[in-house]
Amino acid sequence: MQRRALIVGNWKMNGLIAPSLLLATEIQHHFTANLPRYRGCDVVLCPPFTALHALHQLRESNEACWQLGAQNLSVESHGAHTGEICGAMLRDVGCQYVLVGHSERRTLYGETDQLVAQKVFSALRNQLWPIVCLGENLVERQQGHTLTVLQRQLEVVLSSLIEAHTSSDQLASLTLAYEPVWAIGTGHHATAAQVAEVHDRLRQILHQHLPASVADAIRLLYGGSVKPDNASALLTLANVDGGLVGGASLQAADFVAIVDAAVPSES
Ligand code: PEP
Repeated sequence: MQRRALIVGNWKMNGLIAPSLLLATEIQHHFTANLPRYRGCDVVLCPPFTALHALHQLRESNEACWQLGAQNLSVESHGAHTGEICGAMLRDVGCQYVLVGHSERRTLYGETDQLVAQKVFSALRNQLWPIVCLGENLVERQQGHTLTVLQRQLEVVLSSLIEAHTSSDQLASLTLAYEPVWAIGTGHHATAAQVAEVHDRLRQILHQHLPASVADAIRLLYGGSVKPDNASALLTLANVDGGLVGGASLQAADFVAIVDAAVPSES
């Protein structure tokens, strides 16, 4: 099945409003100058919360061919949750996508598989497309537990969605991002063989739990030290539908080069 490529820039906690606007504008200029090439792919920028509104306005005032995503959301929908941002607020500020369960949220802020599943619900309830991050840490990889860990992380999300009778359309709006924790921000990306093995297994698990049309529609991204010089080898593998890019998404030229590597020029 042909899935649209998706390349997501995760800016993490980097960028005040002015430089964020500058970065998005530079990226946008490149896309606008080569518009037909990018019609077949989705590009999503995930700036810090504080820059979402400004980037939304930039999108609205131009023929933008990128979409807006947030890096996290609350499981709650409103009320006494000081410091939290709910899905409706993200929709209100123009987000279409949201990252859920990034490894930094899991390791630094104690997010469990169960909390990640609840956040996926919050996203879907608010018509946001969740990009669910999954990945093993170095010890788990070295001890040969990679596939077991990923299966657990994915099945907690899938089983709660299935139990709640989530519609096929909503399930198909999920994206999974395989991000080995040891590869994030380290400069040590996974090998093509490692990525292929994991992505094949993830697709298999999807097929075990979901109707074939839904399992085939869900996009699988790779993330972890993706750079212009490795993007083509990693992001054009069968069963890899694009990438989640951290550090390299902070430089317009690098990010655009990664998008170019991931998107076949005829699309
Ligand atoms: C990320 O933060 O999701 C990520 C993949 O970071 P980096 O590309 O810097 O490894």
